[in-house]
Amino acid sequence: MAHSSLTPPATGEQNTGERADAASTGRIERALAELPANDPLRDTLSQALAGLVAAHRDKEALQRRFQSLFDAVPDAVTVLDVDGRIVEANASACQIFGRPRERLLGLSVYDLNPELARDRLREVISEHADGVPFVHQTTNARANGSMFPVEVHSQVFMQDGRPHVMAVARDISQHVGAQAELRASESRYRQLLQAMDKGVMVQDRHVRVLSVNPSACRILRRSEQELINPRPQVGEWEFVDEQGRPLSASQLPAARALRERRTIDSVTLGLLDLRERRYIWIAVTATPLFRDGESTPFSVISTFSDVTDLKRDSELFLRTQDLARIGGWEWDPVAQRMYFTVPLYRLLDVPTDAPVSLSTLLELVHDNERPDVARALARAEQHGSGFDLECRIRSPRGRRRWVRLLGDAQHRAGEVFRVVGTVQDITKDKLIEDTLRQQALTDPLTGLANRDAMVERIGAALDGADIDAGPAVLHIDLDRFKVVNDLLGHQGGDALLRSAGERLVAAVADDGSAGRFGGDEFLVLCPSGGSDRACAVAERITAAFDAPFRYAGEEFSITSSVGIGCYPTDGATVQQLLQSADAAMIEAKRRGRNTWQAFDPALARQMSERLVIETQLRRALENREFHLVYQPQVELARGEMHAVEALLRWNNRVLGPMAPDVFIPYAETTGDIVRIGAWVIREACRQLSAWRADGLALERVAVNVSFRQFLSEDFDETVLSALAEFGLPGNSLELEITERVLIEDVTDTLRTLRELKAHGVMITIDDFGEGYSALNYLRRLPIDAVKISHGFMTGVPGNETDAVICRSIVHIAKSLGLTVIGEGVETAQQREFLRVQAADLAQGYLFSKPLLPDALPMYRPPGW
Ligand code: C2E
Ligand code: MG
Ligand code: MG
Repeated sequence: MAHSSLTPPATGEQNTGERADAASTGRIERALAELPANDPLRDTLSQALAGLVAAHRDKEALQRRFQSLFDAVPDAVTVLDVDGRIVEANASACQIFGRPRERLLGLSVYDLNPELARDRLREVISEHADGVPFVHQTTNARANGSMFPVEVHSQVFMQDGRPHVMAVARDISQHVGAQAELRASESRYRQLLQAMDKGVMVQDRHVRVLSVNPSACRILRRSEQELINPRPQVGEWEFVDEQGRPLSASQLPAARALRERRTIDSVTLGLLDLRERRYIWIAVTATPLFRDGESTPFSVISTFSDVTDLKRDSELFLRTQDLARIGGWEWDPVAQRMYFTVPLYRLLDVPTDAPVSLSTLLELVHDNERPDVARALARAEQHGSGFDLECRIRSPRGRRRWVRLLGDAQHRAGEVFRVVGTVQDITKDKLIEDTLRQQALTDPLTGLANRDAMVERIGAALDGADIDAGPAVLHIDLDRFKVVNDLLGHQGGDALLRSAGERLVAAVADDGSAGRFGGDEFLVLCPSGGSDRACAVAERITAAFDAPFRYAGEEFSITSSVGIGCYPTDGATVQQLLQSADAAMIEAKRRGRNTWQAFDPALARQMSERLVIETQLRRALENREFHLVYQPQVELARGEMHAVEALLRWNNRVLGPMAPDVFIPYAETTGDIVRIGAWVIREACRQLSAWRADGLALERVAVNVSFRQFLSEDFDETVLSALAEFGLPGNSLELEITERVLIEDVTDTLRTLRELKAHGVMITIDDFGEGYSALNYLRRLPIDAVKISHGFMTGVPGNETDAVICRSIVHIAKSLGLTVIGEGVETAQQREFLRVQAADLAQGYLFSKPLLPDALPMYRPPGW
């Protein structure tokens, strides 16, 4: 521009000028040649000629300088006349427009810029005739037709009385590209901000919000306008730090970043939104922005994310830890640094600001466990092994507690770089555990050790026991307790058992410990002293039961039977000793009760016998070793066979024939009676239906049922299906139960009986009168008949007591509408006695021994 404002003579005029100069020189030279040599004018002319030549040389130099300057301009410079013709162009113009100078001169501006409206140049010239330079952007064409953007600085000037335009065009393709690039990157940046899930907020040096992205709006629950609004939104927000301490505006990260001229990294901030009435937690990083070369930031950019959930989780986690009484720790063996979580500080009663180390933890551990803990920690650190220990700790405040210490090593490249773990307060669990253990080992009624505890104690005593004066086990069973228990009811029975326990403990004194085995059975362990001491203790125990017990103003005599098993002669294991003591106790009972008995080899034989019987019994059913015999029951009024009782017989290959009195108790102990009993019922039903098919008129078959059979849930099912299988009505079957069925507390016994009775099955109480509270039951039970015990029959009619008992049984039973059966009738007198008393049926050797099934159809009762 400066160049064009010089308005130099147009270079197009230069030739004309040169020609003019040459003409003047020529004229002077010619005049000089015509002058005589001594003409005084000659000197003057010569001087003028020299001056003229010099001036001409100077002008040429100026023009050359001007031209080279013109060409040196990097922009395309052209001079246009009014018609738009290019009258001058510099080297850059030739290069930019892609044409040699000769071709460029003479072209029109309209060739270079086809978009330019015709006559536009004239208008431009008239608009800018004042010579003030003007700028516009347009597009120009190269010789090859390609277009490029230009920025043109122009000025109108007069030459030779005619307006011209000097145009300086600058190729701005690069600039335009850069701008487009900038615009694109700006839009990318905006998109990025839009898409970012982090909130972004830009604030000026006065912390006024300049811009926010959508995530910022979402996190803060405000619109862009609301956030950018420069007015302070008084009372809309309150800020707190991570610990919940209030923060002033100047303490916020953006303000700090501006003030401290550094990035404030990852600050957790609580925002109480008063308008929305909610708390949010954000993690903010604020970075100050500086202009080149400036040390004061002109703005600050904050990025933040919503950590409300995280914060809540971590708080919840901490609270949970507190609740669960768990603390966490982390040990950095390289830096030798220990870290405790807040709940751990609390758990250990260590102030949260106290410096902690590995020894802080170790020193709190109880002396007994400290070496273990130290070892475990060392192993974790050196070998990377985890650990799980329970130990006691004593807090600095003196609180003692049990804790569970868990640790685990973390590895990196085979090296332990961290050991992390937890400390859990398990004091309560320990207490509960202790109580539970105590409870598990105590009999709640008497407060004595229970069976498990006694077994444990005996086991302990056997460990390293003395062979000469070793431990002994005493098994105590109260005699006739069941009778008293039935009389007094549960409460009375319980009171009695408690007093019995007290007497026992007093009798044992320092010679051993007592426990309750269950029911009315007790155990005593004499841990040492052998047989002598055990016998002395047994003697004292039986003596302790001499005096009667008192309950509710009444006196009850309860004695005890004691069996003794000594280590090692009577058994080397807990189980063997218990069995021996039990066997000895049973022997003591057999000998008439209220006494004690030491185990002896005869008892040992019995025990081995029992083992053989039980083993054989188990396979008897499969081996078809059972059969039934039937004993007729005769109607006393008419002397005719009415029914039969099925009696079980066992013929074992090893043991030979065996009486039911002997083997049934074993089958009851082992539980085999349930299977065997089911077989008996089915077999009796089968036989009855076979007889009936053969024309034998029998009212029913009676089957003995053990109390143990009622323990099986589907007993009624067993009975009913046997009846159904052989097409028998319920009243074809009679079940003989003993009072034991009623005494043993079998749930649902009554329900089962009713169920069976409802199907017509007849229920009879066998061996009636041997039990203790017999008459009581009669009214309550769904029974049909009583069988007077064989034992009473023997004494009839000679023994007055037996006769009285028999008579009253018959009367009571009859008055209750029950059928009365006399069994074990061996003599005509007994038969007559029953007949006179109006008993209904009689059974016994007088009529028939039990018969094999084949013999029965031929049976005829003896006449009388
Ligand atoms: P129980 O039910 O009282 O049977 C009567 C027992 O007295 C039978 O003995 C019978 O042979 C015997 N007996 C019959 N008449 C006379 C007599 O005039 N004088 C004498 N001294 N005894 C007589 P058994 O067959 O040895 O049965 C003994 C006990 O075994 C039965 O007593 C019964 O309680 C039980 N029993 C028998 N079979 C079974 C059965 O299948 N299941 C169950 N659970 N127990 C059975
Ligand atoms: Mg019977
Ligand atoms: Mg009987």
